[in-house]
Amino acid sequence: MNVDEGGVDVPSGGAELILPIVAVVGRPNVGKSTLVNRILGRRQAVVEDVAGVTRDRVAYDAEWTGRRFTVVDTGGWLPDAKERAKAIATQAEIATQTADVVLFVVDATIPPTSDDEAAVRMLRRSGRPVVLVANKVDNARIENETASLWSLGLGEPFPVSALHGRGSGDLLDKILESLPPPIPAEPRETGPRRIALVGRPNVGKSSLLNKLAKEERAVVDSVAGTTVDPVDSLVGFGGDTWHLVDTAGLRKRVAHASGTEYYASLRTNAAIEAAEVAIVLLDASEPISEQDQRIITMVIESGRALVIAFNKWDLVDDDRRYQLGKEIERELRRVPWALRVNVSALTGRAVDKLAPALRTALNNWERRIPTGQLNQWLTALVQATPHPVRGGRAPRVLFATQAGVSPPKFVLFTTGALDPGYVRFVERKLREEFEFIGTPIHITVKPRK
Ligand code: GDP
Ligand code: GDP
Repeated sequence: MNVDEGGVDVPSGGAELILPIVAVVGRPNVGKSTLVNRILGRRQAVVEDVAGVTRDRVAYDAEWTGRRFTVVDTGGWLPDAKERAKAIATQAEIATQTADVVLFVVDATIPPTSDDEAAVRMLRRSGRPVVLVANKVDNARIENETASLWSLGLGEPFPVSALHGRGSGDLLDKILESLPPPIPAEPRETGPRRIALVGRPNVGKSSLLNKLAKEERAVVDSVAGTTVDPVDSLVGFGGDTWHLVDTAGLRKRVAHASGTEYYASLRTNAAIEAAEVAIVLLDASEPISEQDQRIITMVIESGRALVIAFNKWDLVDDDRRYQLGKEIERELRRVPWALRVNVSALTGRAVDKLAPALRTALNNWERRIPTGQLNQWLTALVQATPHPVRGGRAPRVLFATQAGVSPPKFVLFTTGALDPGYVRFVERKLREEFEFIGTPIHITVKPRK
């Protein structure tokens, strides 16, 4: 896990950035949820006729003319506010601090209220881009009246009817204009998945490689469209062709001869970096060592998917199995999510379990949870188990987005810094709910500033 408390340096590069955030702000009943539904183009949000009703989801994935962004319905943030005007101003304040663009929604069929004005003062001070949305403009007659909204000082009002769709296309165009430029997604390199087979000397790496290659009689020389480094191998097993990185050392058995542990570890690290998933091979007949731990740490820190294979299982008797169980509990506590396979390169035992484990780990490593689904779960979680109160206050988790994959990266938007323990709790629950096994996940906390 990679908990980043200060939380602003979201891992960047390629498709791994937070999508632009559009926050929808306004007092109850002006039509925020209806507008969110309209922007999403399908009925996703919950619309209730009750003022200030608590909504169970707040953030969604949206797309307009090929541009993706996240829409945040702030309606559910302040369910039991006592002083309403102040509460709406606070909502607007939080929204400006988390959003790239704020849609401030007013009901054009009635004059601005003091609640609206309280929010406007805050929005104008923030200096953030604000689009003033005059909603419930169901016809041209009402549209003529929206000119009075200029007086709010937020610029030109944008007349729409969220309910009937009138003006919503123009509004979406306007929103896109205000967003930061899009970042083109980097397509994943296709071809065989890249595996690093790593472990300390003598655990059985070259034996396992030989076994895998021999069982299937399938060391492949080339795969169309794939460049394979001379030190790598393409090996077919489990119904797929796999790209094993840096197998030269394993085959020629130079690894132990040529080097100090330092160089061996540099090479191991390079192999992990070049791979998408690592098989960390351990010798099940010996205690889990510090060197084993260091290699597992390298995999976690490089953010690769992980399969732990316990080799030499043919040497494991009942006593040893009992001991190993206790060692796993103690030594592998930080990677309860890693997939474990017990194999024997000598006998071939369970070697066929490796390919399915690799596939599971890679699938989870690349998985993306839709924003709506993520927030539906998160809202329920933080309601059931809120952040503990510290000095009379408890930071609130507002919403989350998945900022990237390979490995999955999540960003929690909050009203303040979170306890590391609470972040670990969220991670554990996230793993449970979405079955993230075989992959590290990163959680970044983004408190409003
Ligand atoms: P929210 O509390 O701001 O999220 O408001 P809702 O989206 O729940 O809408 C409040 C009420 O206004 C609902 O009865 C909607 O059907 C209605 N409404 C929303 N948009 C429009 C609109 O464009 N025209 C009209 N006539 N009614 C609307
Ligand atoms: P590497 O240094 O990790 O590549 O390990 P090797 O493949 O060279 O294996 C080291 C030693 O362990 C050799 O003597 C192998 O025959 C032995 N070995 C490898 N796998 C197994 C296994 O599954 N069971 C047993 N009993 N011995 C094994």
